[in-house]
Amino acid sequence: MSAERTGPTAPARAESARLFARATELLPGGVDSPVRAFRAVGGEPLFIERGQGARIWDADGNVYIDWMGSWGPLILGHADPRVVTAVTEAVAAGTSFGAPNRREVELAALVREFMPAVELVRFVSSGTEAAMSALRVARAATGREKVIKFRGCYHGHADSLLAEAGSGVLTLGLPATPGVTRGATADTLVAEFNDLPSVERLLAANPGQVAAVIVEPVVGNMGVVPPAPGFLEGLRARTAEHGALLIFDEVITGFRVARGGAQERYGVRPDLTVLGKIIGGGMPVGAYGGRRDLMELVAPAGPVYQAGTLSGNPAAMAAGIATLRALAEPGVYERLEAVAAALADGLAAAARAAGVPLVVNRVGSMLTPFFTTGPVDGYAAAMRADTARFAAFFRAMLDAGVYLPPSQFEAWFASTAHGEAEVEATVTAARRAMTALGATG
Ligand code: PMP
Repeated sequence: MSAERTGPTAPARAESARLFARATELLPGGVDSPVRAFRAVGGEPLFIERGQGARIWDADGNVYIDWMGSWGPLILGHADPRVVTAVTEAVAAGTSFGAPNRREVELAALVREFMPAVELVRFVSSGTEAAMSALRVARAATGREKVIKFRGCYHGHADSLLAEAGSGVLTLGLPATPGVTRGATADTLVAEFNDLPSVERLLAANPGQVAAVIVEPVVGNMGVVPPAPGFLEGLRARTAEHGALLIFDEVITGFRVARGGAQERYGVRPDLTVLGKIIGGGMPVGAYGGRRDLMELVAPAGPVYQAGTLSGNPAAMAAGIATLRALAEPGVYERLEAVAAALADGLAAAARAAGVPLVVNRVGSMLTPFFTTGPVDGYAAAMRADTARFAAFFRAMLDAGVYLPPSQFEAWFASTAHGEAEVEATVTAARRAMTALGATG
């Protein structure tokens, strides 16, 4: 089945429109997470009825090739039978116990096998919770209060981490979020990604005060920005010199850019790791973990309190186990890499042919085509992208049956369910969309 459409008319979206009108009466902005509302690209969001493999269907029955993959978790595509079976079995045996279950142990063992730096792990229910909790551990371990984050990186919506955040905060151009007190962000210092001197300056200006540097080792939340050679190694060395901890937020990159995440791909070992998305196989899961001596501070092993009614939920654990087991099979990452590379090359070629400036950043199966002249190596460069052009491209692709993340500053994700057919249909649609952009640009 091809999701590509050839007619000049946009597909009917009456049912999505009806649902969205009702949703806006019931939910703020009609959605449960801001970027879903399509404000950065214009138009109204689609209501998704179901997904299978690389495709999703909306409430009007239109089918789309999906490169968003629920913002990253769906590395096996939608409704992978192994995940569906595992979750179904788990749910049939009871959805939640609030008591230990064997699946927590099994998933923890898989995580440690893939990421040896995660010696002890605590499961939570979202990436936000995981990042917030990892900072708490870092502060407790060091007895220091300040943290360094990077402009344009996103670590969830905990108060202290919303300073200069990426993702929806950046997409919607929101100023510092109202409701976050000055006190909550006073200990958050902001450096520039891929700019080691900016980190060195903050460490030097705050001697003995920085508990941790937290970073997306490959940024996904200003669009994909890879670390420059030596940047992650430099962070490792500087934090060690200053007695600060290094925290990798691998919510996106974990089990994505390599089986063992960015820490495996770049060979840099963080003290603490924040996980989410793939670890839950599409169910609500986050996790934080790392050095045993640090994680033993977490209650009840130690004094740092952190708890959750649904943490380690059996159905969520089952989805994670099935996903990680599938990722242990040989050749998976080579295939993901090949599909994403073919897509990136095809998009770049389509843009060149149409005379549209485009820089495609890709690490493994995550990529972002930026509508700008290159290179996009950090926040300032990403901000130079032409968001109006992206919006027009997004709408043309949607009309052609290709679903992209509705923002210039997000990552596209390939899954094991994507193959040559999806790449070809996407590149064909992109060629048309770029040609139209070139003509109007
Ligand atoms: N860290 C990173 C790197 C993320 O991309 C995200 C979400 N996109 C989060 C943390 C927060 O995760 P969640 O949305 O599950 O709270």
